[in-house]
Amino acid sequence: MLNKDKNSKDNKPFQEMYVVYNRKSTDDADNQKNSLEYQRKANIAHAKRGKLPLALNLTIPGFCEKGIIDEKHSGYKEDDNLIINPDGTVQYKIQRAKFLKMAEMLLNKELKGAIILCWDRASRNKQDDLIIKKLMEQGCDIRFSEATYEKTSSGALHMDIDGMFAAHYSRNISEKVRNSNIKLRDEGRCLYTSPIGYLDKGSDHKPLDPEKSKIVKRVFELYSTGEWSFAQLAKWARGQGLTTKPRRKNRTVEERLANVESKTIPIMSHPVDGKSIENILKNPFYIGKIKVPGGYADSTAHQPLIDVGLFLKVQNMLKARCVSFHYIDKDFFTYRTSLRCKCGRAYSPYVQKGITYYRSRCKAGCENPNPNLLETEVHEIIAQALSSIYFTDEELAQIEEKKNLEWDKISTKRNNELEDLNTQRKNVYEDYDYLIKNKITIVRTGIMKIEEIRNEEIRLGELLAKIDEKVQAYSETTEEMLKYIITFSELVKNASLYYKLALDTEKRDIVTQVFSELVFHNKKLLDYKAKEGFDALLGRHNSSKSVLGSPGRDRTCDQSLNRRLLYR
Ligand SMILES: [Zn+2]
Repeated sequence: MLNKDKNSKDNKPFQEMYVVYNRKSTDDADNQKNSLEYQRKANIAHAKRGKLPLALNLTIPGFCEKGIIDEKHSGYKEDDNLIINPDGTVQYKIQRAKFLKMAEMLLNKELKGAIILCWDRASRNKQDDLIIKKLMEQGCDIRFSEATYEKTSSGALHMDIDGMFAAHYSRNISEKVRNSNIKLRDEGRCLYTSPIGYLDKGSDHKPLDPEKSKIVKRVFELYSTGEWSFAQLAKWARGQGLTTKPRRKNRTVEERLANVESKTIPIMSHPVDGKSIENILKNPFYIGKIKVPGGYADSTAHQPLIDVGLFLKVQNMLKARCVSFHYIDKDFFTYRTSLRCKCGRAYSPYVQKGITYYRSRCKAGCENPNPNLLETEVHEIIAQALSSIYFTDEELAQIEEKKNLEWDKISTKRNNELEDLNTQRKNVYEDYDYLIKNKITIVRTGIMKIEEIRNEEIRLGELLAKIDEKVQAYSETTEEMLKYIITFSELVKNASLYYKLALDTEKRDIVTQVFSELVFHNKKLLDYKAKEGFDALLGRHNSSKSVLGSPGRDRTCDQSLNRRLLYR
């Protein structure tokens, strides 16, 4: 660190010396004055002419090398952040890190002065003007190798005028960049990199990526079923080989200061994660839109990948999801949003003297005599509920025996899918049959040649094999689902013990995975609804349910009845 003692010469070895400051704006490539080499040459020559000692031993990585400061920055990105403090001081953020550091050193009198090509290399706006003028007023010797400002009122005017031009020039460039962007955008062009599933062949041509677009489309379709989380979808998509678009990582602050060129940083793509999936699902690019200031417009550069109906469906599902996501920002409570009163109101957590309670602000007329619940009591009740949901050995034996015949009935959706496949198989079989039986007629009447028939036979055979493969995959899924439920059943066999030992976050995971609704009334678990897959386990124990609260509702009775019929 630089010493604060202004009188000690040892700590300020460069206080009689000058630095050279060169600045290159990335927006203004054609301007000769903009070249760093040109500025360096002119400034060093100026130092020699004026016998100004350069701080040749001043080297600070990321700032200055042998008394020379080279700064690259984008004037276009410069924002004029101005903060007025309550004490009347004004804070202005200098975007150029090295310029800022130099100004600091000059102000601390660690340097005598700086040599800069001309006004517009030092300043691009009125705020910068002010900083330079203030530095000069403080006695810092700022020299301009292509301009001399007399220390008179006319010199000051000269400076003002140059400052004005510099600011105008900078504004002008920003304007040009902006205008050309607006023009291209108005033409429906896409000025940014397209998302996963598209290729970039210029702002007017973003064709579909033949491989990835198919996977992205499936991501939308799968999410719209409501059965997939971002993480699950990411896992699935990774399995399909979906990667992010190849891009360079952003330069670090150190790399930027050391003037490391972006193009030297390797381009990489990565397997997608949950966040990439979320970004895909929210991006209107996939229905043929491009981002414009303040919204989206129709693109002329690319075609939609999915239809608007599917996109809107997904957006609605994302919104619904946000509601529960919202709670992530709130303090963690095991049963936040999980418990409900008979009147429909949710129990909200609160802490009193270090003890967590849940309270329902019941609707008028609700008969709940005690809308307060102690969290530890809830733990007990849930543990008890869980302990009653495993299959007995007898039941497991029954399931094993009946599963091949009956299990598919559990999911009507899965059944429909299998039905479709069976219809397909039937149709293919019929075609196949017709072909074999009428081979001779077909050849005689000249509809098909013998080779064509053979090819058709092969095609149908392959189609059949594919359908059978799918049917097999569906029954495997059923098998897996059953296995999962049985594993869970095993797990919850000792549920009361396990649940009590579980961490609060684990408790929450279990509760939200198993139950979609827990209704408490007068400190008792009155009713519960299980998530899909667990209703098989939860619906059965009518007797154990009455132990936990009042007897189950009709719905639950029906469910147990169905269960009993199913496994009888
Ligand atoms: Zn209530």
